[in-house]
Amino acid sequence: MSSYNGRMIRLNLTTGKSQVEEIPRQWMKDYLGGRGIGVRYLYEELKPGVEPLSPDNKVILMMGPLGATTAMSVSRMALVTKSPLTGAVAKSVMGGSFGAFLKFAGYDGIIVEGESAKPVYLHIDKDGIHLLDAAGLWGLDTQQTHQKLRQKHGKSTQVACIGPAGEKLVRYAVLISDLRCGGRTGVGAVLGAKKLKGFAVNSSGPLSLHDADGFKELTREIIEGLKTSPGRIRMSDFGTSYLTLGFEKVGIFPVKNFQEGHLEGIEKIGDEALAGIKTKNDGCYGCMTRCGQVRQVTKGPYAGAVSEGPDYETIWSLGGNLDNTDLGSLIAADSLCDRLGIDTVSAGNTIGFAYELYQRGIITKKDTDGLELNWGNHAAMMTLLEKIGNREGFGKLLGEGTKRAAEQIGKGAQDYAIQVKGLELPAYEPRAVKGYGLILATANIGASHMYGRPRDELSGKKDKLTEVDKGQDAAQAEISQATQDAVIQCSFGPVTGFNPQQRSDLLVAATGFKEFGDPAYLDKVGERILCLERCFNVREGFNRKDDTLPKRMRTEPLANAGPATGQVFKNLDGLLDEFYDALGYTRQGIPSEVKLKELGLDSVVADIKKFAK
Ligand code: SF4
Repeated sequence: MSSYNGRMIRLNLTTGKSQVEEIPRQWMKDYLGGRGIGVRYLYEELKPGVEPLSPDNKVILMMGPLGATTAMSVSRMALVTKSPLTGAVAKSVMGGSFGAFLKFAGYDGIIVEGESAKPVYLHIDKDGIHLLDAAGLWGLDTQQTHQKLRQKHGKSTQVACIGPAGEKLVRYAVLISDLRCGGRTGVGAVLGAKKLKGFAVNSSGPLSLHDADGFKELTREIIEGLKTSPGRIRMSDFGTSYLTLGFEKVGIFPVKNFQEGHLEGIEKIGDEALAGIKTKNDGCYGCMTRCGQVRQVTKGPYAGAVSEGPDYETIWSLGGNLDNTDLGSLIAADSLCDRLGIDTVSAGNTIGFAYELYQRGIITKKDTDGLELNWGNHAAMMTLLEKIGNREGFGKLLGEGTKRAAEQIGKGAQDYAIQVKGLELPAYEPRAVKGYGLILATANIGASHMYGRPRDELSGKKDKLTEVDKGQDAAQAEISQATQDAVIQCSFGPVTGFNPQQRSDLLVAATGFKEFGDPAYLDKVGERILCLERCFNVREGFNRKDDTLPKRMRTEPLANAGPATGQVFKNLDGLLDEFYDALGYTRQGIPSEVKLKELGLDSVVADIKKFAK
């Protein structure tokens, strides 16, 4: 008995056939689950150089060993593919309940490959796995798709689907389950290229566990502690919106496409303002925190708009980054992104890029379909989101992401594309928090806020502005995130309630694998995952030159940003050396043969010798 089902669905959309296959037992021990097993499949099955939007790319949806159990905040789902934005490995984690019910149906994950000739969706129930016609769903937004699938298969059906943006190959399209999204890096576009509208599952629990009584006792203790945890309660009351005002004070919250660090009137979109229009909480399967804040606009031009959010990232991307403090527009824009199925971080960053080009006269009304892209113009933001999601007019170019859009525009536009490896930066100003800057520069998926979090810097325990002695911490933060994404546990620290040893004990009770009882073993799993992702990128031609930050961060002093005013990121090279040394990579950012063998990645050595540049 184990919480692993040990079974994957392999769906080939070219043939229209699916089969069920076993997950190699050693992969469970070496990679745990989620992002870990996902990247192992991707490395094994994708040849180098595959075009991300071609039938040869694959998407792996993968649960973790604690998913669908009674442990708190561990039932999220990893999505792994090759990104159409970056050409690198891509991972994202999606909340909701879809993954838990996939496990109840008897599967740990789904491998999607090939390309269908016509729109289809996958339905899983007690009678089996069915590939069904999605002609009546194609073109619908994500909410309409959820409704239609529930009308057809029953109210309790769990759904994950793409919206019009995924169908139309917007490079930062996402997969949405209820109001939870996964897919920074463009998983939605890869599914759209395969003409797979989504997934629906009907199933019921419970799941088998290796030691059900032991597991129950462990979770009982943890849940008792969580009931009074102040950090958890704050997440429940405010979600991540509580970060906004504090981060702006210390210059971390970027404004006007990272030109400065102060937002006049920020309190209008701060945590208290958002709490004033909150109607209820929502959340993922098996989470007592339910950090999702459902909010409804009550007055003004956006009255009636409802969204589950925005979180800190979206408050920034569609708010502060555009010098927009209109609360109603923020809710309406967040909701629109969810319905279209686009990533709010890349969308808001790309619109900020367009606003700055307009400010500088690099583009004019002739280029923007007549829109005046002045800072704070939230009506133009709404129009642009519609155009991006539907790939219309100027929105078609912006749907390519900042890197490709800048290359097409020319005239120096590249200097204002705030991205790393093609992925747009999130709501953290690297010049104001240097360890985070190093993580954004080195993350194998591009500049993601979900690839490691320098908690000591953010909490003020360590100096944010020094540029030495941060490589080890950044490496450890990336390793820890990789382990978390393999478990898969929620990244919001206080909400799971367990410490590393308790997590290990839960894993042993759930799976029966004794190795998991040692937290140091799980740390090695995280390091192995991180290293294999880097190896994937090495095969695709990535190396040290790609571990960088936008020119603005390296050359322009940060303006109007409290204690970070005047900061430039000067010593990225020194920090990269520290980071590579900490991980046993060469100074070119390539895993050394010794390190590969230490991590049991002997099978990868020949590839690295062949492809390392
Ligand atoms: S805290 Fe929020 S994101 Fe994390 S598991 Fe709970 S509902 Fe999901």
